[in-house]
Amino acid sequence: MPDKALPSGASIAVIGAGIVGVASAYALARQGYEVVVYDPSPPGEAGPSRANAGHVGASDIHPLSTPGIHWKAMKMLMNPDGPLKIPVRGAIAQIPWFWRFWRTSQRKRFEVATSALSYLCSHTLTDTGAMLESASMTDMLLHAGCAFLYDTEQSFTASKRIWADKNARGFDNEEMDAGRIVQDIPIIADTFRYGVLSHKWSMVRDPLDVVRGLVEAAESNGVIFQRIRVNSLCGGLDSVTLETNEGKSQHAAAIVAAGVNSVTFAKSCGDFLPMAAERGYNLTVPAPGMELELPLVFADRGIVATHLTSGLRIGGWAEYAHPNRPANQNYFKSIARISAELFPGLNLDNANYWMGNRPSLPDSVPVISQSPHVPGVFYNCGHGHYGLTHAATSARILAELISNKSEDERYRQYSITRFSNMR
Ligand SMILES: Cc1cc2nc3c(=O)[nH]c(=O)nc-3n(C[C@H](O)[C@H](O)[C@H](O)COP(=O)(O)OP(=O)(O)OC[C@H]3O[C@@H](n4cnc5c(N)ncnc54)[C@H](O)[C@@H]3O)c2cc1C
Repeated sequence: MPDKALPSGASIAVIGAGIVGVASAYALARQGYEVVVYDPSPPGEAGPSRANAGHVGASDIHPLSTPGIHWKAMKMLMNPDGPLKIPVRGAIAQIPWFWRFWRTSQRKRFEVATSALSYLCSHTLTDTGAMLESASMTDMLLHAGCAFLYDTEQSFTASKRIWADKNARGFDNEEMDAGRIVQDIPIIADTFRYGVLSHKWSMVRDPLDVVRGLVEAAESNGVIFQRIRVNSLCGGLDSVTLETNEGKSQHAAAIVAAGVNSVTFAKSCGDFLPMAAERGYNLTVPAPGMELELPLVFADRGIVATHLTSGLRIGGWAEYAHPNRPANQNYFKSIARISAELFPGLNLDNANYWMGNRPSLPDSVPVISQSPHVPGVFYNCGHGHYGLTHAATSARILAELISNKSEDERYRQYSITRFSNMR
């Protein structure tokens, strides 16, 4: 593709039908492009888009790698119920990623990542609302805020700087004392004394239903979904050729939105994408015997909870391991035990256990950009903990880049080239 806007009606391939690929396909179709989505699995079902916590976490403007993260990480690793896990087998392979992750915690880089995430976060609720409204799914989004709960006064006090920064940037929140916590969230253990209610936070009724609803809306805008795996990409002068399980297909451009597999496509284009599989574990209980009114984050435990259409979903954690490694069954047992502690009286019968690979980049900022090496290739990937949250905004940015070839400075912060000096 030449270095100018792609004309309306041009054919675009989207690789991956998770929430990010489907939202991108829908946004592009609404700009008048002919879109074909390739995924060997039914939309939303193969990756973490299937069973994430359903939070639209619009105030989480800071990267995971905060200043001083290395001390916190050490503590987490030593605690068997801590949220960070790095299995000994394969740990060495994770070192380069963690080195890049640690570099984000340095003040200047931390500020850069915070600014990139703040832009996304400040548009998330509007863009998500608009996307769902246009797909006739307004009732899918609930605006309840989110309660962040702390186990100790020490951790609560340590978090205050982060909350003050959010407030200063317009992401308002208020402290919750023990009385307010009991009143607003009577179903949790009565040990929580410190909390913060973040107002800029929503949830969806069910993340898989969101993907399915968007697929329907996209199809009615002409998007074609092919149950086909893409094996490789090859860029020509004015086109991109996909090698699939069912032969070759040619498009004017291709979007890489293949979750943790995006890295393979980036490599074949000569682009450096330092992505890790950050595996999260959760359980969903269809008849928990209790109602949770608003999303929760148990901040010291890396555990979140949401009451979705499919049931009460509780889980989180971050296990850095090869994406194909089987789920660690002991973690499911731990999550079940912790869930019973956090929600006394929880009925765990018929719980569904699930593990998913978050596609995580070391600065927690997604890549939404053109390939510098193969001009017809674009990326929308690496959303880590917040793919559902930022699907609509990143899809809008991507559609703007492709249709206007916008030179908007604000979008440079999502470029894949930011990793070039981190090889
Ligand atoms: C436990 C947990 C809780 C989470 N909670 C939240 C939350 O509350 N809010 C939030 O915003 N985010 C949350 N996330 C993160 C969120 O789920 C992810 O960021 C998001 O789902 C990533 O979407 P994606 O479309 O980029 O990737 P995926 O969902 O992984 O989709 C990628 C798709 O690409 C396809 N694909 C891969 N390779 C190929 C190929 N070669 N050819 C064709 N197709 C291919 C796959 O089959 C898959 O369908 C959570 C994640 C986990 C694990």
